[in-house]
Amino acid sequence: MRKVFLHYGIIFLLAAGIFLISQDIPIFKAPLHKYSETKLAMGTVVRFDVCSENSQEEAVYNAFKTAWKSIENTSRMMSVFDERSDISKINTSKTKPVSVDKKVYLLLAKAIYFSTISDGAFDVTVWPLVQLWKNSKEKNVLPRKRDIEKILKLTGASQIKLLKNYNVQLSHPTVKLDLSGIAKGYAVDEAAAVFRQSGFSDFLIDAGGDIYAGGTNCEGRAWRVGIRDPRDNTRMIDTVLVSNKAITTSGDYEQFFEIQEKRYAHIINPKTGFPSDEVVSATVIAHTAQDADALSTALCVLGPQQGVELINALGPDVASLILTPASEREGYLRTFSKEYKNFQVKE
Ligand code: ADP
Ligand code: MG
Repeated sequence: MRKVFLHYGIIFLLAAGIFLISQDIPIFKAPLHKYSETKLAMGTVVRFDVCSENSQEEAVYNAFKTAWKSIENTSRMMSVFDERSDISKINTSKTKPVSVDKKVYLLLAKAIYFSTISDGAFDVTVWPLVQLWKNSKEKNVLPRKRDIEKILKLTGASQIKLLKNYNVQLSHPTVKLDLSGIAKGYAVDEAAAVFRQSGFSDFLIDAGGDIYAGGTNCEGRAWRVGIRDPRDNTRMIDTVLVSNKAITTSGDYEQFFEIQEKRYAHIINPKTGFPSDEVVSATVIAHTAQDADALSTALCVLGPQQGVELINALGPDVASLILTPASEREGYLRTFSKEYKNFQVKE
């Protein structure tokens, strides 16, 4: 894909469900220099910020180069749209075992784990349903119930077999995988590993709202991340402080489609085969961006009660904020997980 350089500006900040606020922080120690680069990648705007001494400038630019390469390789490897990707090879395998890259295999294992703990809400076998709804959108008619039911019989993590030697096998030729709900987070984690291996511990990666914040900001404080109002991008819902953590938001506000003038979310409930419709947005803070990415997608399906139960069961490293619609005047109902307040900025 041709890469386009963008200037660090308000446009991409508004494009993300969550964004960074860092200019209002008092300085405690000699601040490090902030180096930034922004490009289009993975269908979104990706920004890197690295805090470093001026003497390290060359090393920072080398790390940027390696991190962009890593994002490009990862997204190509995990993409359902690239016919040379391992995912496409699996999807066209007609149940023959396919030998895949170790990274793809391990991410599939992770995806199956998230499917298990979310009671099937996170499900990388949704691709046939995603396609069915895409076709419906194009025809502007709802899918037929019996078509949904037919696909649902062959949906679920149990349709994927992870064999030895990094081989993957599907249970039926119509089963198809889609890692879009976790791959962006994974790519962010891979880029974070590049910065750490290059000797930088204070950095921020923002891939269209899937954020990883390493160490501290360039003033030596935890990174402040704003959670945007999903229906009004000039307002903020909340602000959190994160350090060595990821924060991602999923919801119906950025990616959605319309059939007969009704709006549908791009996240599918694998139990019903219909787009999820209860949650406006779900933000998750977790140790890695892949975990936060999968969980924020799962919460959109699970809804606030089941969603917060899942997050609370995952221990002190994971927190969430789920927004559901309230009345026109009151805005949203906010459901906080147990640990969320530990990240909230108290003003
Ligand atoms: P975003 O791209 O906004 O960060 P997500 O991380 O929530 O969104 O991923 C949504 C994408 O994941 C959808 O476009 C679809 O390809 C896929 N998907 C849809 N429903 C599910 C689901 N229940 N579990 C896993 N992936 C899903
Ligand atoms: Mg996701």
